Amino acid sequence: MKIGFIGLGNMGAPMALNLAAAGHDVSGFDLTAPCPEGVKKAASGAEAAKGADVVLTMLPNGAILRAVAAEIIPAMSVGSVLLDCSTVDVESARAVAEQAEATQLMAVDAPVSGGIGGAAAGTLTFMAGGTEAGFAKVNPLFDIMGQKAVHCGASGAGQAAKICNNMILGVTMIATCEAFSLADKLGLDRQKMFDVVSTSSGYSWTMNAYCPAPGVGPQSPADNDYKPGFASELMLKDLRLSQQAAEASDADTPMGKAATELYAKFVEEEGGQGTDFSAMLPRFEKRARS
Ligand code: NAD
Repeated sequence: MKIGFIGLGNMGAPMALNLAAAGHDVSGFDLTAPCPEGVKKAASGAEAAKGADVVLTMLPNGAILRAVAAEIIPAMSVGSVLLDCSTVDVESARAVAEQAEATQLMAVDAPVSGGIGGAAAGTLTFMAGGTEAGFAKVNPLFDIMGQKAVHCGASGAGQAAKICNNMILGVTMIATCEAFSLADKLGLDRQKMFDVVSTSSGYSWTMNAYCPAPGVGPQSPADNDYKPGFASELMLKDLRLSQQAAEASDADTPMGKAATELYAKFVEEEGGQGTDFSAMLPRFEKRARS
């Protein structure tokens, strides 16, 4: 396939490389990031999109996606697919899909889980929204870049699934960190805490697979001085998307709201920017009660 790839940042570059390594003809464009070797460098988004069967975008947010979509949609061929893998708000995903479909293109929103490691290894999970025909056309690309793709429903459903998943992730990370902090105060050994909780009803991905306590459980960013991994500010971005979506759909998400407020404070006032989102644990250690 001929693929245009727009947004060659931390995630986009390794994803584009995997597509090129699998034999696809990939043209890439980014405003600032270098074009990785093996991917043809395009002079603009529109140039990368021209004549492509699929145009994949991997961009920071919904506003940028909307601006890029307005530029590339007129350059795309009838029947081609605009595949957005960024994490953005549901409304932007639906607006871009509507715009694409109005000019006889297909649109799929397919945010990912698995981080930079998953992007490099080709083991991402894709959660997709869009038509059956759109999903079928890009599914072979998901097989190259990932290990699993779930077709969640119509346009926006992929973003909805991602936002809900990451709201659970933010809430459970905080719950895991505050439980460790309480356990410390109660004089409980962290390893014993892990041994019990990871095999009891308090178990979770944040405890079992990504334990925020250094030296406990499998290797995680906690063992690397809380270098990301998944940065606290990206967690905050996703939590804010959950609250925007909750407001727009009149959903009651009190724990999501509390998690958003705590990560906002951590990132914007307490020096959490640039640290992994599991650095919420040393934050609790420093601030015994707040
Ligand atoms: P990044 O900031 O490293 O990459 C984004 C790239 O988009 C940058 O290189 C930037 O120059 C480029 N860009 C911005 N505006 C542009 C424009 N108008 N035209 C062309 N390029 C433009 O971010 P990332 O970590 O690669 O994340 C990309 C998306 O994936 C985000 O939506 C993020 O939430 C999501 N995501 C990231 C992770 C992760 O662990 N990093 C995990 C899952 C999902």
